[in-house]
Amino acid sequence: MLARKKFRNILFIYYSTVFIIFTLLMVTFQYQREKKYRTATLNDELDKITQIIQNYMTSQRIHESKSYFTIDSLIALLPQPNLRITIVDRSGAVLYDNFVKDWKSMENHKSRPEISESEYSDFGTSIRRSGTTRQEFYYYSKFYGQYFIRAAVVYDILIVNFLKAKVYFVFVILILFILIWAVLLLVTNRFSESITRLKDFAISVGNNEPFDFNQKFPKNELGIIGEEILEIYRNLLTTKNELANEKEKLFSHLNALNEGIAFFASNKTRILTNNHFIQYMNMISGDLSISSSSFFKISEFNPILEFINKYTSEAVISADLPKMDYQISKHGKFFHVQCVIFNDKSFEVILSDRTELEKNKLIKQQMTSNIAHELKTPVSSIKGYIETLLKDSQMEREKQEYFLEKALAQSDRLTDLINDIAVLNKIEETASLFNIEPVNLPEIIREVSENFKAALESRKMKVEVLNIDHVIINGNRSLILSAFQNLIENAINYSGENTTVRIQLFNEDEKFYHFSFSDDGVGIVEEHLGRIFERFYRVDSGRSRKNGGTGLGLSIVKNAILLHKGDISVRNRIGGGTEFLFSLPKPV
Ligand code: ADP
Repeated sequence: MLARKKFRNILFIYYSTVFIIFTLLMVTFQYQREKKYRTATLNDELDKITQIIQNYMTSQRIHESKSYFTIDSLIALLPQPNLRITIVDRSGAVLYDNFVKDWKSMENHKSRPEISESEYSDFGTSIRRSGTTRQEFYYYSKFYGQYFIRAAVVYDILIVNFLKAKVYFVFVILILFILIWAVLLLVTNRFSESITRLKDFAISVGNNEPFDFNQKFPKNELGIIGEEILEIYRNLLTTKNELANEKEKLFSHLNALNEGIAFFASNKTRILTNNHFIQYMNMISGDLSISSSSFFKISEFNPILEFINKYTSEAVISADLPKMDYQISKHGKFFHVQCVIFNDKSFEVILSDRTELEKNKLIKQQMTSNIAHELKTPVSSIKGYIETLLKDSQMEREKQEYFLEKALAQSDRLTDLINDIAVLNKIEETASLFNIEPVNLPEIIREVSENFKAALESRKMKVEVLNIDHVIINGNRSLILSAFQNLIENAINYSGENTTVRIQLFNEDEKFYHFSFSDDGVGIVEEHLGRIFERFYRVDSGRSRKNGGTGLGLSIVKNAILLHKGDISVRNRIGGGTEFLFSLPKPV
């Protein structure tokens, strides 16, 4: 409101000043014109009077008879009031003055401006205070060869008359001023309305304050400009918001990615990085405090630096963007590094953690060679038995049966191996296809104990189940069954005779049950403990094979637990024997 007033007032003051100056100039001009006109009129009037006097003097031969006093009677006949007539001779001596009785004693008038002026031109005028009468006079003098006739009137009459005329003039000017003032007020109001709206808008935008875009501007050119500016700004805002949204989406997307991505400007300053990029950079440099601006100080990224320097110094314009990639292996981790240079010489760097992939590749390679190795033994045994049988067609029936049983046992072993490999593969490759449901654990343990009843009895082993009666697990039934089967089988095969298997729920938290599966047998030598979950790892491979072990049992157990997002570890019990500690999820 204050600003609006200010603008209007300024505009108003400007207009008023111009108007007042204009009015003053007009009044002055008019005054000068009037003065000139009045003077000319006066001169005309006084000229006529001097002419009348001259005619009179010539006809009455006054100069010759020196009877100047007779002029008094002529003056009395003239209509002008206060008219002063002076006759001055060539030398400046006053011959007659109707205002002064004793004119002969008057000083010489030769030097009077009007007198001296009239001697060489048509007439002479002057305005001055009379030394004789103390009044201000307008003098008009004309030279007639032998004498000057001077007529004078009191000067203030002219001013008074003029001012009388001017009062009316000033009154008209004043009314005009008020009228124009009102029009100005209206115009400035209308202009200031648009400007004030625009100013409010500019301030709101500058201060990031909300602004009502539906405001209507006055219907004038400024108003149209204002509405256009608002419309342009509104479009700009929409675009800006859309852009911010897209940027936000892009950011979330970049951060959700498993890859580390960074964008750099052509001068190698960083524009944008996601969280993974910084994390991977820290892993590669080994410096956790390093920031992304120090990217090029890390020696592992020198190839990128060389690549960028090469391409940014050369003017390469190609349809395919220049691209390079290589692998970094650091602290047991593998990273794939890729760099792409864009046409404007800015570039992006993508870091991907390939550790899992590389490890899996290695495991797969090992696995394949292990499988080949494991399969070779039973296959070559079966082949040997069959060859023996073929070679000797006369072989006794008992011997034949012996070889056939051996071959059958080896083919059973082959089946076991293939089954175990299949289970492991299934856990790894198609984990999401396992059906997860509430699984009754006491029932599983009963089933497993039942399956191994004969083996347990023959080894005089007992199974103790503690605190499990109520436990329901959120999991895949066949995997959990397989895990417990493998654990019991191992206990039967390796713990020794007269041992007790103890399955116990020892703890639980919000999401998991924590179990202990232990036996009080021979245990596992400490140096092997760290590796027994590896595929095909056996402490004593001869004994394992003899027991029908594939070396995959504990791998299956571990993978089954991990698939349920649980955890497993192994340790030797203080009193002897092996103890597996693992967790399985509670129903949600
Ligand atoms: P395997 O097919 O040989 O049983 P596992 O992966 O099931 O393969 O077991 C790996 C090795 O761990 C076994 O060879 C065995 O030496 C050892 N082991 C497993 N369970 C026990 C246990 N309860 N007591 C002693 N040793 C065990």
